[in-house]
Amino acid sequence: MNTHSPADPSADHSALHIDAAGWLAGVARHPSPHCDDRPDDAPIDLLVIHNISLPPGEFGSSAIDDLFLDRLDPAAHPYFAVAAAVGPVSTHFLIRRDGGLIQYVPCHRRAWHAGRSSFGGRTRCNDFSLGIELEGTDTQPFASVQYAALARCTRAIFNRYPAIGPERIAGHSDIAAGRKTDPGPCFDWQLYRELIRPQTPAVAHWPYQARA
Ligand SMILES: [Zn+2]
Repeated sequence: MNTHSPADPSADHSALHIDAAGWLAGVARHPSPHCDDRPDDAPIDLLVIHNISLPPGEFGSSAIDDLFLDRLDPAAHPYFAVAAAVGPVSTHFLIRRDGGLIQYVPCHRRAWHAGRSSFGGRTRCNDFSLGIELEGTDTQPFASVQYAALARCTRAIFNRYPAIGPERIAGHSDIAAGRKTDPGPCFDWQLYRELIRPQTPAVAHWPYQARA
């Protein structure tokens, strides 16, 4: 599991980077079979923010892992059957409630997180995006350690994929309007944007308090 402490996000030694194979160095890797090659000409120039919990509203179990690793037992919970019926899904990154980061798909591969979607007139957002799932729901504030981990992950993405900047981050609800609602109204976009701003003065005010 990830052992990075978010206690001092301004320290350089806490910075994450994405290695040549597309993995975030130093975080847990749980390789998912739910991925494939991106189309040859697809740039990686969009970051999509999601939330997920399995069953909805319950945190901390292995169910999300099991879903992405193709081992969720549909008989174990009524909602698991619903999730399984959606078909195979995955994400590049998951951020647990405790701020722990897990990567499932290397960045150059296509993870299956966006589904039917469009951004800036382009459809099939999985082709050209990275996905980050926050363990959570549409109706509960996310933990401050999740924002800290999200910001560190985002900064690593900015460094590795310069075509992705603050203006090329979308919620799943933005690219699949009417079909998806995550990350939901409790996701604090203003805080997130403050945390990923270069040389953000907010770093001086750790710990951050998530605004409800
Ligand atoms: Zn989503």
